[in-house]
Amino acid sequence: MKAAILEAQNKIAIKNVADPVCGDNEAILKVKACAVCGSDVRIYHYGNDRVKYPSIIGHEIAGEIVTVGKNVSKVKVGDRIALGADVPCGECYWCANGMGTNCSINYAIGYQFAGGFQEYMTLNDTILKYGPVTKMPDSLSFEEAAIAEPLACAINGLELAQFAPGKSLAVIGLGPIGCMMLELSKMYGAKKVFAIQRSKNRLAMAKTFREDARFIASADEDPVAVVLKETNGEGVDCAVTTAGTTEAQEAAIQMIRHRGFVNLFGGLKNQPKLSIDSNIIHYRECYVMGSHGSLPRHHELAVSLIAQDIVSAKKYISKTFPLDEISSAFSYHEERGGLKVIVTPNAA
Ligand SMILES: [Zn+2]
Ligand SMILES: [Zn+2]
Repeated sequence: MKAAILEAQNKIAIKNVADPVCGDNEAILKVKACAVCGSDVRIYHYGNDRVKYPSIIGHEIAGEIVTVGKNVSKVKVGDRIALGADVPCGECYWCANGMGTNCSINYAIGYQFAGGFQEYMTLNDTILKYGPVTKMPDSLSFEEAAIAEPLACAINGLELAQFAPGKSLAVIGLGPIGCMMLELSKMYGAKKVFAIQRSKNRLAMAKTFREDARFIASADEDPVAVVLKETNGEGVDCAVTTAGTTEAQEAAIQMIRHRGFVNLFGGLKNQPKLSIDSNIIHYRECYVMGSHGSLPRHHELAVSLIAQDIVSAKKYISKTFPLDEISSAFSYHEERGGLKVIVTPNAA
């Protein structure tokens, strides 16, 4: 079979490798779609502590089960499956108590476990027992179901930020996750929504996901000033930074309402440390928190929201590439001309 082997930083090659052999406690998935995540491109350029070379990355996956080990009952041959990325170890304090995104081992598909940029992948014992393995309805395409992984992370982000009906929301950064936050905000009953983005191109793309939001181009307008002005100086109940910049995080803290939640969703890389007047946090009694990844139940919910068209997965898919053209898929992602790029290892 063919696989995209990441051999070193900035070095990925399509190779013929042996088909995976299915153990008694494992299953083999024929990968139909694997979406490109910003983190894949970061791993490609800079590596990651959890990714050892040679490696197969890719963690936003959907496909079909083609082989099942004799001890496996969770899936059967022919099942159409969507996969999430984070796999709870199932054993540590965090995993045993339903907080697997804090697992100290922090297993993930496309990190320690070979991912979706290959024709066939192994679902090992841990993935099958504890991981985000969700059966998808026939009505969904594999490409749409692959979008459930990032959506699950967005759901976890709003859940941990205690989002609830009647609250106001600001989303800073309107990439795919930011647009998902806009769509989810309808389901969560958000009152007033601010959508903030530096580049106008991205801002225009984001508008269709929640037309009644107040869109702010931060290159032209100061988002903190606008949010405060349009909330009578109060600020928003929840501010989520999907943009991984110090500037976004500082702005989010400055626009938060008393008792509000700031979710530093996007991590920072090569960014200066925050310098913020912490008395804002002190006097406003607000919560500055983060979220990272998702749990299997979030992934299950994500698949169901896509199936109900509460989140319109189709609208995120900008372009599809065969596995052979994975480098072009990464470049296309980096040009930021669209929202999601999908690699289809078994397209033909
Ligand atoms: Zn991802
Ligand atoms: Zn664990």
